[in-house]
Amino acid sequence: MVLVRYARSWAWWVGLVLVVSACSGTVAATTSSSTVPPPNTTTSSTTPPTTTTTSSSTTTTTLKLREIDAALVGDTGGDSTLFPDSGNGGYDVLLYDWTLVVSDDLTALQGVVSITAVAIQDLQRFSLDARNLIVASVSVDGESVEFVTAGPELVMTLDEPLTSGDEFTVTVDYESEPAPYRPEGVPFSMGWDVIPGRRVLVHGFPGAAATWTPISESIYDPARTIFRIDVPDGFTATASGFPIDDEEFFVWDTQREVNGATFTIAEHELSEIEWNGIPIEFALTPSIPGVRDAWEADVPVMLDFLETIFGPFPYGRLGLSAINGAQFALASPMRILIPESMPRTVLVHELAHQWAGNAVTSKTEGSGWLWEGLATYTESLFAEYEGRDTAFTSSFLSSNVPDTTRPLDQIDSIDDILDSATYQRGALLYHALRLEIGDEAFFATIKEFIQRNLHATAEIEDLQTIAEEISGDDLSQFFTSWVSETTVPQLPPTSG
Ligand SMILES: [Zn+2]
Repeated sequence: MVLVRYARSWAWWVGLVLVVSACSGTVAATTSSSTVPPPNTTTSSTTPPTTTTTSSSTTTTTLKLREIDAALVGDTGGDSTLFPDSGNGGYDVLLYDWTLVVSDDLTALQGVVSITAVAIQDLQRFSLDARNLIVASVSVDGESVEFVTAGPELVMTLDEPLTSGDEFTVTVDYESEPAPYRPEGVPFSMGWDVIPGRRVLVHGFPGAAATWTPISESIYDPARTIFRIDVPDGFTATASGFPIDDEEFFVWDTQREVNGATFTIAEHELSEIEWNGIPIEFALTPSIPGVRDAWEADVPVMLDFLETIFGPFPYGRLGLSAINGAQFALASPMRILIPESMPRTVLVHELAHQWAGNAVTSKTEGSGWLWEGLATYTESLFAEYEGRDTAFTSSFLSSNVPDTTRPLDQIDSIDDILDSATYQRGALLYHALRLEIGDEAFFATIKEFIQRNLHATAEIEDLQTIAEEISGDDLSQFFTSWVSETTVPQLPPTSG
């Protein structure tokens, strides 16, 4: 597997349709510092206690939460079958506002996160994902509340329940010495991943962000995101969003609800160009020569090309941060993290995700191939655009034969979302559609597919509907074969 196949958008993970159900009334509380106030240990008599195993630096006590009406309890998990611990029920997040102070050696942080959300059920108990954080205090609308940390969850109990529709702000004061997070089956680490001279912080797979912040890592709960980051001298924090002037912190504000905002801290030098009136910023390591000139030349050309495919750029700004030494590239709204050494195909792939996978996402965790397939196919389209290939080349075809017979709509494990069906078969589907309905209808379909669903979600059914509208063809058998059948179909012989 070549490195380019590790370049992907994570954004389609974010934004979960929350499932409301009652969680267990019992959790194991983990405390690890004298700064942590003892949680309320009022017990109930209905549920047996559970325990968690913790590191030697922590102590574990088993306790039961105050008994409350189960109907007032938000789910501690989300809708993901692959990441059942990630995401939380009972509310919809509107805004994350982080203040992070990073230690001089980059290994620890003090954080305050204020999360503004709307209750989507009557709610007296709710949770956030939080892995091995030292939580000092939690307040809701300024009032301290009872809380416990338990495994991957931080669970709060209110004295008085919220009513469905209520907007509320939960503020968590915490410390963390976060470690990289690597889900089983994933070939690289995410989250708080330190490489000498740089640090990468990612909202990646569900679970990665919870290592450095309380968060609801739901697959479908986009939120506005504000980062206020204090870093050691000589370092710069760059993030998704627009930079806000501030004397003390690096501040970035997405100014709209987005999926999967991210940031990185590194010894970067920043420069900026303007493309079609949009600021394009480059955060690069000064010691690596030539990259700035190359990216400043390539990115405007690539964006011009991508606008012909997808329509106008969906955001008011874009930043690219070099993460030399990383094993992946990552596209988040308005911020791309990418190693300097990545080939140009990866750069155009990640830029394509600004439209396909960032501005348009999916409703289900099994639909990531829609965006990975399209971004992968865009690599070939860009080669055509530059005249390096006159058509979809034999080299592309030979390099995009999936090594799995997994149908695109069959996602059973984390491995499946990273395999060659997601990338190669996904790309081949788009090319097959192009051959099936012809260039004119195909490119009109792709642009309409993106523009009609901008800053919203879309699924394969939406692509089929638009392709049928524009081509006038019945494509039900085509999509059934390409999406659901074990055998990868033969490409249509010619266009038209
Ligand atoms: Zn991708």
